[in-house]
Amino acid sequence: MEKVLVSACLMGQKVRYDGSDVKEESDAFQQLVSMYDVVAFCPEVAGGLPIPRVPAEIVGGTSSDVLAGKAKVLSKDGVDVTDAFVKGAQKTLQLCLEQGITQAFLTEKSPSCGSSQVYNGAFSGTKIIGQGITTALLRQNGITVHNQHQVNL
Ligand code: SF4
Repeated sequence: MEKVLVSACLMGQKVRYDGSDVKEESDAFQQLVSMYDVVAFCPEVAGGLPIPRVPAEIVGGTSSDVLAGKAKVLSKDGVDVTDAFVKGAQKTLQLCLEQGITQAFLTEKSPSCGSSQVYNGAFSGTKIIGQGITTALLRQNGITVHNQHQVNL
């Protein structure tokens, strides 16, 4: 059975910043889970961040800029958590490479897992077109990333 990477919070693991999950219950997603060998993973926890944690956003550029050392990830209380986000992305990529994973279904709007939208860095709830740090690194390495609403089997 082919392996796919899935955000741990979509699988019901309570790993989000506020200790919650966003378990995906759609029929299409449940079909995905039944058809593939799902590897559930949370980049932010893998990067060393605790549960719960202060929410964070990409500030001063894009996720690719963060990976290039030209922008940061800041928590809402102003702490620079860039290193943890980059470390989590690197661990996610390492997992995919080790396990032969070429497709991922990740949680939209997360600063790690978002694949078409993220928040704008002002902690105002405003979304912009963009992707999370982990998604950017996976895509740079040829891994296809969808969000939880793009299951098209
Ligand atoms: S980093 Fe990804 S897997 Fe972890 S809580 Fe955020 S969206 Fe879910």
